[in-house]
Amino acid sequence: MLQLKKVESFYGGIQALKSIDVAVEKGEIVTLIGSNGAGKSTTLKSISGLVKVKTGNIVYNGREISNKPAHEVTLLGIAHVPEGRRIFPKLTVKENLLIGAFSVKNKHVVQERIEKVFQYFPKLKSRLDQKGGTMSGGEQQMLAIGRALMMKPDLLMLDEPSMGLAPIIVEQIFDIIKELNQEGITILLVEQNAYQALQIADRGYVIQTGEIRLHGYGHDLIKNEEVREAYLA
Ligand code: ATP
Repeated sequence: MLQLKKVESFYGGIQALKSIDVAVEKGEIVTLIGSNGAGKSTTLKSISGLVKVKTGNIVYNGREISNKPAHEVTLLGIAHVPEGRRIFPKLTVKENLLIGAFSVKNKHVVQERIEKVFQYFPKLKSRLDQKGGTMSGGEQQMLAIGRALMMKPDLLMLDEPSMGLAPIIVEQIFDIIKELNQEGITILLVEQNAYQALQIADRGYVIQTGEIRLHGYGHDLIKNEEVREAYLA
């Protein structure tokens, strides 16, 4: 479904990705783990068109998408939930959700999608008129994922959805990720919470200073000595 082939991305003169190869097959949960500054967010941003790719290719369903504008990538079915949620704090829950469906003109379709989001996140239904910024961290994360679901993505990219959340909320978020995947959405998950991410992932990649250090099945990486020492200690 998605292939990154020898992708290199820079911030000015700083090289953040060094010839990265990553593949995601339809229906999988793939996780990208690594320490702070390893290049995980940059990988997602390179896919979604937020960071310029200098060399290499990003191919999605057979189509070259590297350096396409972000809104075009979104319209191809790739949703990106950024680190730190980035909901619109001054807009209500409903307004935040509607922004996710910016490309859908049919009101019935929009309403159907909102109802679907409520199935995953019933709490949002009772908070429709609440300003996004007044919600708890967990609720904001749910809203950010809900907003991404409004575009009915085929590939959902989540950047550290568990960051800063209480363990019980993290459990809920990981359960929802599994449920979304079971309903057919392919997931590319960036996490510092390596143990939980590898537990739900089919496959994982370990990224270190902009390079893929290891990759394999989630259950194998969990047992890998190097992974255990560096990321699961
Ligand atoms: P974290 O979990 O801390 O976000 P990460 O693995 O997602 O880590 P990236 O955010 O992708 O890491 O950062 C990769 C490298 O690129 C780091 O060296 C970082 O300092 C650098 N970098 C990231 N964003 C910028 C930017 N806007 N300008 C300059 N350098 C940046």
